Order: sequence, then structure tokens, then C-alpha cells
Amino acid sequence: MPIPTTPPSRDLFGYTALVSVCAAATALWWQRPSPDPLDRVALPLLALLWVALWGALRQRKLKLSQAQAAVFAAHGLYLLLALDHQFRVFAPQMHMLSESTYWFAPLYAAAFLFFLPRHALYLGLPIFTASVVIVAAHFLRVPAFRQDTSLIASTAQFLLVGATMMLLQAVMGRRHAAMLAAQVAAAQDALTGLANRRAAEERLLALEASGQAYALVLFDLDHFKRINDEHGHAVGDQVLRSCADHALRTLPPEALAARWGGEEFLLILPGPGADLSLKVAEKLQACLAAQPIRPVGPITASFGVAYGQPGESGAALLDRADAALYRAKAAGRNTVCAA
Ligand code: GH3
Ligand code: MG
Ligand code: MG
Repeated sequence: MPIPTTPPSRDLFGYTALVSVCAAATALWWQRPSPDPLDRVALPLLALLWVALWGALRQRKLKLSQAQAAVFAAHGLYLLLALDHQFRVFAPQMHMLSESTYWFAPLYAAAFLFFLPRHALYLGLPIFTASVVIVAAHFLRVPAFRQDTSLIASTAQFLLVGATMMLLQAVMGRRHAAMLAAQVAAAQDALTGLANRRAAEERLLALEASGQAYALVLFDLDHFKRINDEHGHAVGDQVLRSCADHALRTLPPEALAARWGGEEFLLILPGPGADLSLKVAEKLQACLAAQPIRPVGPITASFGVAYGQPGESGAALLDRADAALYRAKAAGRNTVCAA
């Protein structure tokens, strides 16, 4: 039951894959007729990796975080090999580092964009440390490098920019994580962890705009006031949390469960036909009956189910679900009624 918070990262991965494939092709074309031996092998491999991961993501054979970690590791490895390579070939002649070192900075930035700050540090730090080790090894290996003030200045700048980027990104990453947490909190019901009413209303508007078929299940716990009166408010809260857990376990993955208010919940089920949405309500009803919540015992609820008609607004569909719920209450509660 994903509460919508972040931009579509899967799409972002697709665009980045396209840019990366174009960048690799351009770099090879630029180096015609005799590309650098490392680039000749590494750039087509990187392009292939992007395309393969994008294909696997589209077919849902891979998680987005796995694809992101794979491209991050592959690009990190390529940049480290390029750094080593330029100390052997480029630096002795040019007395400086080449432009390929510029790409370390975007790599560190990408880590903090794709991953949580702590994970980004775990990924970025080994690459930064490896770059320091490679630089140190070459300065130890070649005495002439140690006299080359131009190369020393260029290398020092490279390492300082890397360290600064890591520091800046770590601060930015923390702010980014705090912003995402606030975004989640704004869409979440604090007691049950379900989506809140605002998030549900947004989902209804989005479904209405998309023209996609969907069904609503509105349910209200029966005689909940008695539970509060007999067992206290804290137990009442625990019952609400347990019912929310039951609802989550009953739902298909693309559905949204929201706390609509007090002891009333709304399930938004994109796609299924009228029969299937009735089945979801009946399954949840059976689930509540089968799993008593201590010390209260089995909980019952009344359900109103409504299946969207072509051109019907979210508000109108909700009204029908509410009317069906009202009928379920009037029929003696612990009942599912279809609109
Ligand atoms: P019905 O079967 O007709 O729905 O009866 P009911 O007792 O469930 O409905 P009523 O509207 O009379 O009472 C709902 C109660 O839900 C009253 C309110 O105190 C309680 N309630 C609302 N929100 C919360 C909450 O967050 N925690 C707790 N513990 N109780 C809540
Ligand atoms: Mg009630
Ligand atoms: Mg109520």
C-alpha cells in the first residue's frame, strides 16, 4: 500500500539510462579513430548494463534500489580504473589530471540522490578512499610525480573537491531525508500508519482524472463507542491499529487503505470488477471475525461497497459507498452491502 510521496524514480532511471547511453556513444565517437583502450571496452559495457537494467526494471525482475546500486558500483569502478589509467598514460605527459576526474563529483551527488544518506556514505566513501589510495600509490611509485608541482596541485584539487562534495552532499542528503519523512507524515494517519484522509482524497482525484476503473470499500467498526467505554481509550486505539493491520493484509498491492475518520476506513481498489471488490470486503469481514483482539474479542464492522461507473466522479462514488454502509448498519451491522 504505497503512500505516494516521491517523483517516479523508475522513470528517472529510464531517462538517466538514455542520457548515459548517448554520453558513452558520444565519448567514443569523439575519440575516433583510436579510442582510449579502457573506454573502448568500458563504455559499451556500461551502456549495455544501463539498457539491461532498464529492461529488467520494466519487466519487474529487479528492484529499483538494486538497479541503482549496480549502476553506481559499475560507474565507480570505471572512474577508479580511469584514474589509475591516467596516472600511467596521461599524467606523465600532461602534468595534470584529465577531465574524466570531473565525473567523480556527480557520482557522489548521485549516491545521495538515489540512496538514504547513511547508505550513500557507505557507497561514496569506499570510492573516495580508493581514489586516495590510487593517487598515493602512484605518487609513491613515480618519484618524478613528487617533484611535479603542477600535477600535485591538480591532484590536490581533485581530492579536495571529492571530500567537499561528500561533506556537502551528506548535509543535503540529511535535509532530503527529513523532507521525505515530512512528506510521508503529511500523507499518513499517525495512529494506524495507513494513508490519511487527505492522501485518500488525492488518490481519488488522480483516479478520477485518469479515467481508470476502481471500486471503493467504506467500512465502519460496529459499536466502537462501547469498546472505548468498557475498555478505555488506549484499548480502543489498539483495536483501530489491529483493524488497520488486517485491512493491509487483505488488500491487493496496488490498493490504498486509508483511515477516513474516527473508526471509519476507506479502501480504494483500482482495477477490480464489482465481484472482486465485494470479495475483498467479505475477506476482511471474515478476517476480523476469525482473529479476536484481546481483551475485546472479535470485532465486527459494516461495509459499503461501490464500483465506479463510467464518467462518475469520486465524490459521487463515495456517496454511493456511504449509502451502502448506512444500509449495512441499518440491516443489523456486521454485513457487506453493495451500492
Ligand atoms: P456504530 O456501530 O453505529 O458505528 O456505532 P459506534 O459506537 O461505532 O459509532 P459512534 O459514532 O457512536 O462512536 C464512534 C466512537 O469512536 C466515538 C469516538 O470516541 C471513537 N473514536 C473516534 N476516533 C477515535 C480514536 O482515535 N481512538 C479511540 N480510541 N476512539 C475513537
Ligand atoms: Mg462505528
Ligand atoms: Mg463512525
